[in-house]
Amino acid sequence: MKILIVEDEPKTGDYLKQGLTEAGMVVDLARDGWDGLHLACNMEAGKPAYDLLILDVMLPGLDGWQVLEGVRRAGMSMPVLFLTARDQVADRVRGLELGADDYLVKPFAFIELLARVRSLLRRGKGSIESTLLKVADLELDLLSRRALRAGKRIDLTAKEFALLELLLRHQGEVLPRTLIASQVWDMNFDSDTNVVEVAVRRLRAKVDDGFEPKLIQTVRGMGYRLEAPAT
Ligand code: CA
Repeated sequence: MKILIVEDEPKTGDYLKQGLTEAGMVVDLARDGWDGLHLACNMEAGKPAYDLLILDVMLPGLDGWQVLEGVRRAGMSMPVLFLTARDQVADRVRGLELGADDYLVKPFAFIELLARVRSLLRRGKGSIESTLLKVADLELDLLSRRALRAGKRIDLTAKEFALLELLLRHQGEVLPRTLIASQVWDMNFDSDTNVVEVAVRRLRAKVDDGFEPKLIQTVRGMGYRLEAPAT
């Protein structure tokens, strides 16, 4: 877990960094708002570099609110914990409107900060990738490997499950047969996409036969799309 602390007061910053490092986290420390915003927007392997931001409100350069605004504007959705000396209601409301996730009013006990950090990290982790995919009344639970339509269990083979997962992850997009073949069967073939057709036909029989609306659509000459028709 990687955390960025933006705190200008050296004693507090160093103390937090040391404490969180000892708790097993990787911690970077920025001393002003501009550095904080710059670092917070870093990406690693296509994902935000930090799992959590801890922002002081009163900072040189940009203040904590402005850092948060910049971070959210850049499309970064990691949880943010605010440290504020001012525990006024107006501040909290402002922070929540800007997308802060939690507050801690200074002075605070480190143990309380650690508890909040752990809880935010757990929450953040869950939201990165949902384990439940849904469209209309169709649900696919990736953890229990179960598929339900209108609350009824659908038995799928491993390939059918993978195929349905792919379609659900790309709801509303047309997926070419060759792409499906490479993703689900790990094969690259242009000529014989019959395998895909057969699998889609079987999947459709299980998912759509006897149910409304029909979710798996054939897009002639292009591929397949899973979508709930607009009502
Ligand atoms: Ca400060």
